[in-house]
Amino acid sequence: MSLEERLVTALKARGKKVTPQRRFIFQALEKESHRHPTAEEILKIVRKTLPDVSLTTVYNTLHNLVEMELLRQVDLGEGMTRFDTNTDIHHHLLCKRCGRLEDIHRQFRGVALPKEDARGFVVTSHQVIFEGVCPDCQTTTPTLKH
Ligand SMILES: [Zn+2]
Ligand SMILES: [Zn+2]
Repeated sequence: MSLEERLVTALKARGKKVTPQRRFIFQALEKESHRHPTAEEILKIVRKTLPDVSLTTVYNTLHNLVEMELLRQVDLGEGMTRFDTNTDIHHHLLCKRCGRLEDIHRQFRGVALPKEDARGFVVTSHQVIFEGVCPDCQTTTPTLKH
């Protein structure tokens, strides 16, 4: 089942309406899922087909999906929120030059927070982000900043 079908089925099961606009947003999410797109990136793609769609509509649609736990927000401290269509616990590989973000599905069992550092929290999961330079960026010279 495609992501679009999966989301439409889940929304209908919750008695929600699925407008054509939403369908285009789901399609854009699916197309860009490997990049973990931002709301602005989704808007850019949807506007190619629906020029009148607003950022508010895109935001609301994405946040509804997050509330229904059909989508996850990822904040890597880059000053933007990305959306992740993979709602299973997983880890990430981030290119520090172009912002490409890929999923890693391996488990890192050695990662544990000692009790004295947990500050009373009941820790239920953790995320590992590996940062570096992706293959594409390794072959291009970084642009000089003035
Ligand atoms: Zn890169
Ligand atoms: Zn991810």
